Amino acid sequence: MTVNLDTRSELSTPHAENAPLLGQSLAQLTDWVVRQGQPKYRGKQLYQWIYQQGARSLAEISVFPKAWREEMGEGAIGRSTLHYRSVAPDETRKYLLRLADGLIIETVGIPTENRLTVCVSSQVGCPMACDFCATGKGGFTRNLQAYEIVDQVLTVRDDFQRRVSNVVFMGMGEPLLNTAQVVAAVKCLNEDVGIGQRSLVISTVGLQGRIHQLAQYKLQATLAVSLHASNQRQREQLIPSAQHYPLQQLLEECREYVEITGRRITFEYILLAGVNDSKENAAELARHLRGFQTHVNLIPYNPIAEVDYQRPTRDRINTFKKTLEGENIAVSIRYSRGLEADAACGQLRASRSQLEAV
Ligand code: SAH
Repeated sequence: MTVNLDTRSELSTPHAENAPLLGQSLAQLTDWVVRQGQPKYRGKQLYQWIYQQGARSLAEISVFPKAWREEMGEGAIGRSTLHYRSVAPDETRKYLLRLADGLIIETVGIPTENRLTVCVSSQVGCPMACDFCATGKGGFTRNLQAYEIVDQVLTVRDDFQRRVSNVVFMGMGEPLLNTAQVVAAVKCLNEDVGIGQRSLVISTVGLQGRIHQLAQYKLQATLAVSLHASNQRQREQLIPSAQHYPLQQLLEECREYVEITGRRITFEYILLAGVNDSKENAAELARHLRGFQTHVNLIPYNPIAEVDYQRPTRDRINTFKKTLEGENIAVSIRYSRGLEADAACGQLRASRSQLEAV
């Protein structure tokens, strides 16, 4: 598989004139203003207004000459419009954003005292159809462009009026079915929005050859792999795509990723009562991860309407954790925020009433 590692320039060709300005680098924006017959320094102004001020159209960039602004008409930059917002009691905010073609995606903002984490979507819907995930029940429409991912982060930043410290690709979609755009978004978030690559997490269900492909970009972002099962048979039951991808092979690709990038991998493991949460499962999981530079993130199941899995009791969750720790594996439990606003992991599928809200 050949990979074009220059994901930024890929974005600007061949339709640079019509390409959204959002997502473009300083050099690309400078080229653009010069092509519009403007002096070079306006590139820097445009860049600052897009990424720092959060301008939504060229018309609002008040440092630009009035005549030029009028000439450019509406001058859309590539920002979405807010369709719906809900705020959970824990201050987590969920957004439904309308894209230029009218499609709706979901984004979540998760504040703590020291952090503001944005959970972004990488696709409209998701084709993976994991059994426990609401997004997968709604089907798949299309991949997002890098600028549509960056827009989600700017939208949450502007709404909270706070710096975004972390971004996790854990919203709708499978990032590694859209690798080039996800990598371009990572670079833009890092270089232009100013978020450290190590504060970015790309979460994947793991698809054959795709982790190998991602490794070639040598990102410093963290890779999280949704394992969710301690053996192949069980994984196939929960994740349809696992039928084409043996667990051993997935783990091999993960080992190679660690070697190439020098970064640890996080494994995510959803805990479903009576399905994959026994001590035996924990011991089996530990055997797979022996000698691996890793961290396991346990995610107690968040209920969705379509299936009747249960979240395990706290005791059972803690026993699972202790069993892994007994094998010297670093573990944390992620109790998702935003449950009440249907904003927690796996719950991103807008209800009809949210979609119809004006
Ligand atoms: N496609 C990516 C990103 C998906 S969402 C991936 O599979 O990793 C991020 C995490 O939320 C994944 O680990 C996913 O399996 C998990 N998740 C999905 N549905 C869930 C649910 N109902 N409860 C808890 N976690 C869930």
